[in-house]
Amino acid sequence: MPEPLNPALAEARFCPRCGREAEVRYPRSIRCPHCGYGAYYNPKPVACAIPVDADGRIVLLRRGFDPGKGRWTFPGGFVDLGESVEEAARREVGEELRMAVELGALVGVYSRDDDHVVLIVYAARALGEPALTAEAVEVRAFAPRELPWDDLAFWSTAVALRDFTREAGS
Ligand SMILES: [Zn+2]
Repeated sequence: MPEPLNPALAEARFCPRCGREAEVRYPRSIRCPHCGYGAYYNPKPVACAIPVDADGRIVLLRRGFDPGKGRWTFPGGFVDLGESVEEAARREVGEELRMAVELGALVGVYSRDDDHVVLIVYAARALGEPALTAEAVEVRAFAPRELPWDDLAFWSTAVALRDFTREAGS
Protein backbone atom coordinates (compact mmCIF):
# COMPACT_ATOMS: atom_id res chain seq x y z
CA MET A 1 0.00 0.00 0.00
CA PRO A 2 1.36 3.41 -0.87
CA GLU A 3 2.25 5.74 1.96
CA PRO A 4 -0.59 8.24 2.62
CA LEU A 5 0.18 11.72 1.38
CA ASN A 6 -0.19 13.25 4.85
CA PRO A 7 -0.04 10.66 7.67
CA ALA A 8 -0.21 13.45 10.29
CA LEU A 9 -3.69 14.40 9.12
CA ALA A 10 -5.06 11.03 8.01
CA GLU A 11 -6.94 10.26 11.25
CA ALA A 12 -7.26 13.78 12.65
CA ARG A 13 -10.72 15.10 13.65
CA PHE A 14 -10.15 17.30 16.67
CA CYS A 15 -8.35 20.56 17.27
CA PRO A 16 -4.90 19.98 18.83
CA ARG A 17 -5.26 23.25 20.80
CA CYS A 18 -8.80 23.18 22.28
CA GLY A 19 -9.82 19.59 21.58
CA ARG A 20 -13.09 20.43 19.88
CA GLU A 21 -14.17 19.27 16.44
CA ALA A 22 -12.08 20.79 13.66
CA GLU A 23 -12.52 21.23 9.91
CA VAL A 24 -10.14 18.85 8.19
CA ARG A 25 -9.43 19.32 4.51
CA TYR A 26 -7.28 16.31 3.81
CA PRO A 27 -4.43 16.43 2.85
CA ARG A 28 -4.08 20.21 2.99
CA SER A 29 -5.26 21.74 6.24
CA ILE A 30 -6.91 21.55 9.62
CA ARG A 31 -8.79 24.57 11.00
CA CYS A 32 -10.72 25.04 14.19
CA PRO A 33 -13.89 27.18 14.07
CA HIS A 34 -13.96 27.33 17.89
CA CYS A 35 -10.54 28.73 18.80
CA GLY A 36 -9.10 29.84 15.47
CA TYR A 37 -6.27 27.30 15.34
CA GLY A 38 -5.07 26.51 11.83
CA ALA A 39 -2.35 24.39 10.29
CA TYR A 40 -1.50 24.11 6.61
CA TYR A 41 0.52 21.29 5.10
CA ASN A 42 2.86 21.70 2.17
CA PRO A 43 5.14 19.36 0.27
CA LYS A 44 8.52 19.16 1.96
CA PRO A 45 11.58 20.50 0.11
CA VAL A 46 14.36 17.96 -0.42
CA ALA A 47 17.77 19.31 -1.44
CA CYS A 48 19.88 17.10 -3.69
CA ALA A 49 23.19 17.17 -5.51
CA ILE A 50 24.43 15.16 -8.48
CA PRO A 51 28.18 14.94 -7.80
CA VAL A 52 30.47 14.55 -10.79
CA ASP A 53 34.06 13.39 -10.27
CA ALA A 54 37.22 14.53 -12.05
CA ASP A 55 36.64 11.94 -14.80
CA GLY A 56 33.12 13.18 -15.55
CA ARG A 57 31.46 10.25 -13.85
CA ILE A 58 28.30 10.60 -11.76
CA VAL A 59 28.57 9.50 -8.14
CA LEU A 60 25.51 7.54 -6.99
CA LEU A 61 24.80 5.64 -3.81
CA ARG A 62 22.77 2.56 -3.04
CA ARG A 63 20.31 3.54 -0.34
CA GLY A 64 20.62 1.91 3.06
CA PHE A 65 17.10 2.79 4.20
CA ASP A 66 13.56 2.89 2.95
CA PRO A 67 12.05 4.47 0.97
CA GLY A 68 14.01 3.15 -1.97
CA LYS A 69 16.23 0.85 0.11
CA GLY A 70 18.75 -1.06 -2.01
CA ARG A 71 18.30 1.13 -5.07
CA TRP A 72 20.48 3.84 -6.59
CA THR A 73 20.14 7.57 -6.26
CA PHE A 74 22.14 10.75 -5.75
CA PRO A 75 22.56 12.20 -2.24
CA GLY A 76 19.87 14.46 -0.81
CA GLY A 77 17.53 15.04 2.09
CA PHE A 78 15.07 17.32 3.82
CA VAL A 79 15.84 21.01 4.14
CA ASP A 80 15.80 21.97 7.83
CA LEU A 81 14.50 25.24 9.17
CA GLY A 82 17.56 27.41 9.74
CA GLU A 83 19.45 26.50 6.57
CA SER A 84 19.20 27.32 2.89
CA VAL A 85 18.46 24.74 0.18
CA GLU A 86 22.08 24.98 -0.97
CA GLU A 87 23.38 24.45 2.56
CA ALA A 88 21.09 21.46 2.94
CA ALA A 89 22.36 19.93 -0.31
CA ARG A 90 26.00 20.27 0.80
CA ARG A 91 25.21 18.97 4.29
CA GLU A 92 23.36 15.94 2.93
CA VAL A 93 26.22 15.00 0.62
CA GLY A 94 28.57 15.29 3.59
CA GLU A 95 26.37 13.11 5.79
CA GLU A 96 25.64 10.44 3.20
CA LEU A 97 29.01 10.25 1.42
CA ARG A 98 31.50 11.94 3.79
CA MET A 99 32.46 14.12 0.86
CA ALA A 100 32.45 17.84 0.17
CA VAL A 101 30.98 19.22 -3.05
CA GLU A 102 30.96 22.51 -4.88
CA LEU A 103 27.42 23.17 -6.09
CA GLY A 104 26.86 24.22 -9.68
CA ALA A 105 23.76 25.03 -11.70
CA LEU A 106 20.25 24.04 -10.76
CA VAL A 107 19.32 20.90 -12.70
CA GLY A 108 15.61 21.15 -11.94
CA VAL A 109 12.74 21.10 -9.49
CA TYR A 110 10.76 17.86 -9.35
CA SER A 111 7.24 17.75 -7.99
CA ARG A 112 4.11 15.67 -8.51
CA ASP A 113 0.63 15.91 -6.98
CA ASP A 114 0.85 12.39 -5.56
CA ASP A 115 4.24 12.91 -3.89
CA HIS A 116 4.81 14.65 -0.54
CA VAL A 117 8.26 16.01 -1.39
CA VAL A 118 9.63 18.56 -3.85
CA LEU A 119 13.13 17.77 -5.03
CA ILE A 120 15.50 20.63 -5.79
CA VAL A 121 18.49 19.19 -7.60
CA TYR A 122 21.86 20.84 -8.23
CA ALA A 123 24.77 19.78 -10.34
CA ALA A 124 27.88 19.46 -8.19
CA ARG A 125 31.61 18.92 -8.42
CA ALA A 126 32.96 16.22 -6.11
CA LEU A 127 35.80 17.41 -3.89
CA GLY A 128 37.56 14.29 -2.68
CA GLU A 129 36.50 10.68 -2.52
CA PRO A 130 33.13 9.38 -1.32
CA ALA A 131 32.90 6.89 1.54
CA LEU A 132 30.34 4.32 2.61
CA THR A 133 27.90 5.21 5.39
CA ALA A 134 24.77 3.65 6.87
CA GLU A 135 22.79 5.68 4.35
CA ALA A 136 25.03 4.72 1.42
CA VAL A 137 25.74 1.00 1.51
CA GLU A 138 27.42 1.03 -1.89
CA VAL A 139 28.90 3.96 -3.80
CA ARG A 140 29.89 3.98 -7.44
CA ALA A 141 30.89 6.51 -10.06
CA PHE A 142 28.99 5.85 -13.29
CA ALA A 143 29.82 7.06 -16.76
CA PRO A 144 26.67 8.80 -18.06
CA ARG A 145 25.94 5.99 -20.54
CA GLU A 146 26.29 3.35 -17.78
CA LEU A 147 23.76 4.78 -15.34
CA PRO A 148 21.59 2.08 -13.70
CA TRP A 149 18.29 3.25 -15.21
CA ASP A 150 16.41 0.09 -14.23
CA ASP A 151 17.47 0.22 -10.61
CA LEU A 152 16.88 3.83 -9.53
CA ALA A 153 15.17 4.63 -6.23
CA PHE A 154 12.50 7.20 -7.22
CA TRP A 155 10.69 8.59 -10.25
CA SER A 156 12.41 11.91 -9.55
CA THR A 157 15.85 10.26 -9.58
CA ALA A 158 15.27 9.08 -13.13
CA VAL A 159 13.85 12.36 -14.43
CA ALA A 160 16.59 14.47 -12.82
CA LEU A 161 19.37 12.22 -14.14
CA ARG A 162 17.82 12.30 -17.60
CA ASP A 163 17.69 16.12 -17.48
CA PHE A 164 21.23 16.28 -16.15
CA THR A 165 22.79 13.96 -18.71
CA ARG A 166 20.91 15.70 -21.53
CA GLU A 167 22.20 19.10 -20.40
CA ALA A 168 25.69 17.71 -20.07
CA GLY A 169 25.40 16.62 -23.71
CA SER A 170 26.13 12.97 -23.15
ZN1 LIG B 1 -9.64 24.77 18.63
